[in-house]
Amino acid sequence: MLKLKNYIDGELVEPASKMYIDNYQPATGAVFSKIPNSDEKDVQQAVAAAEVAFQTWSITPKDERARVLNKIADLIEQNADKLAQAESQDNGKPLKLAQKVDIPRARDNFRFFATGIMHFASESHAMENTAVNYTLRKPLGTVGCISPWNLPLYLFTWKIAPALAAGNCVVAKPSEVTPVTAYLLSELCIEAGLPKGVLNIVHGLGGSAGSAIVNHPDVKAISFTGGTQTGKAIARAAAPEFKKLSLELGGKNPNIIFADCDFELAVKTSVMSSFANQGQICLCGSRIFVERSIYEKFKTEFVSRVNNMVVSHPDDPKANLGAVVSKPHKEKILSYIDLAREEGGTILTGGEEVVLEGDYKNGYYIRPTVIEGLDYACRTNQEEIFGPVVTLTPFDSEEEVLKMANSTDYGLAATVWTENLKRAHRIARDLESGIIWINCWLLRDLRTPFGGMKSSGVGREGGFEALKFFTEPKNVCIMY
Ligand code: NDP
Repeated sequence: MLKLKNYIDGELVEPASKMYIDNYQPATGAVFSKIPNSDEKDVQQAVAAAEVAFQTWSITPKDERARVLNKIADLIEQNADKLAQAESQDNGKPLKLAQKVDIPRARDNFRFFATGIMHFASESHAMENTAVNYTLRKPLGTVGCISPWNLPLYLFTWKIAPALAAGNCVVAKPSEVTPVTAYLLSELCIEAGLPKGVLNIVHGLGGSAGSAIVNHPDVKAISFTGGTQTGKAIARAAAPEFKKLSLELGGKNPNIIFADCDFELAVKTSVMSSFANQGQICLCGSRIFVERSIYEKFKTEFVSRVNNMVVSHPDDPKANLGAVVSKPHKEKILSYIDLAREEGGTILTGGEEVVLEGDYKNGYYIRPTVIEGLDYACRTNQEEIFGPVVTLTPFDSEEEVLKMANSTDYGLAATVWTENLKRAHRIARDLESGIIWINCWLLRDLRTPFGGMKSSGVGREGGFEALKFFTEPKNVCIMY
């Protein structure tokens, strides 16, 4: 059985406690690997190693940092099949999704920030005849990166790559639910010649290893992606130390379909934006609002396509949906489907577990579920489910749909379908979301600011936003 190790000071090491946690394979429900149950001691070692490494890494020329990061990207590419297999096994997602999305994006994160740092320049402000200001940007020191289970290597590297490119050293913790590709990354970092201590990966639980990173006084900044409640706990812990925080949290995203949309594209993309990765993407559109004049037409077409979706084990090339990530998560999703029934919703399709045969009979599978007839303000429509469950709600006017779309505590992403240019701009202006897609979904340019409003987070990732987050600006004013 695979036994993971921490990556501290350039070495793969056992946790100080010698304790391990079982890691379950969602497709089968069986334990397939053991994860270090790290604690404060491991985090202290990792931070100490990072502090020493920072003395050198922070002054290593940026083209050398870029060279090493590009080498890691090359190794991810060369090991793409192995990484995709591991991601699919650990998370339950269809193998073809890991091959097409997760692993290429992890590679691209390193390439993007390796080249990004070469183009990163700081500002200069001239004061006519008096003085000139310029801004120096320096890396922060040791930073903490904590990531969730839904896009494991993709989101882990989205934080680590800019932090390292900017000259910081990192202590990182992947989700304990999906740690395997982070472990494989540590092997690739050794092979790439990343200097020891520059990146340290500590496996374990959020409440012990995660909070030890957040609370360590030498950790200058925390970049966290995960649930809103965890984000609040991290913000509370980090505030008294004045640590820099980037928090990418939950969402309850609206998908708004006007009667004048490109109907085929809207239906096709909505199937994907509802159920990709079993609905476990923070950007999935879980509340679908449809203009009343096309509501019945959209519902019929959408439900018929969802009915044809194949729920199967991740290695099945026909699988549209694989397993959800864990047994507790499966139970949480099913409890929300029960809640929707109690709240008066009608299940149009799905609404139940799928039991596969043979080795997969104990896996965690749920049919893609479409619900209608719920009030926009009910709990099913306000709380994040983070699974293959969407609701359909008709609307009559722009004003009404904006009110419903903006009614949640969240404000991460929104999708709008309309061929009316003026309306598209109006709605984009008035939606309370950090990310808005018009007539598309999940089209990503890594240079753009990425993040949410309200309870969906604080700060933005991506492009120079990330490099700014991971550096401290210092203004120098020189009088002529
Ligand atoms: P969690 O908040 O449960 O966990 C995220 C990470 O934080 C895990 O590594 C977890 O460890 C760790 N953690 C938990 N408690 C603490 C703590 N007190 N201190 C430090 N670290 C801690 O989120 P999930 O893993 O369940 O991920 C799903 C959530 O992530 C959803 O809400 C989703 O919307 C959000 N998300 C947001 C995205 C965005 O860009 N805005 C993108 C993707 C997901 P452990 O696994 O051991 O609990």
